[in-house]
Amino acid sequence: MSECLFCKFVRHEIPTQIVYEDEQAFAFRDINPQAPIHILVVPRTHVANLAEMTHEHEGLMGHLLWVCAELARREGIEPEGYRVVANTNANAGQSVYHLHLHLLGGRTMGWPPG
Ligand code: AMP
Ligand code: ZN
Repeated sequence: MSECLFCKFVRHEIPTQIVYEDEQAFAFRDINPQAPIHILVVPRTHVANLAEMTHEHEGLMGHLLWVCAELARREGIEPEGYRVVANTNANAGQSVYHLHLHLLGGRTMGWPPG
């Protein structure tokens, strides 16, 4: 069994604030939110990050983006806007190596990101 923290969330071995789950995707609230709404959307299957993606993951990634859009609607942040981020490897500050899309909203955001 994987020692990965997010795999343990997906398998319900460690409790977390789940906001959505289906056969392919799992979403939960970030423990250290960077915006009023900060949700992590992850695949149930372990993929480290975008750098590990193959053509086989294309459909899965499309689904994860749909989950982000759907949760943005449910959380009420769609009209004013939101951001989806996938930190990949060291320069981007990736700290957990199970692919996750950050869904951030509820405040205005700067550009470019830091
Ligand atoms: P990243 O730095 O892009 O790899 O994002 C990892 C995210 O996981 C960070 O925003 C953390 O706050 C979040 N995180 C780490 N541990 C937990 C946890 N136990 N529950 C929820 N979110 C977590
Ligand atoms: Zn994992």
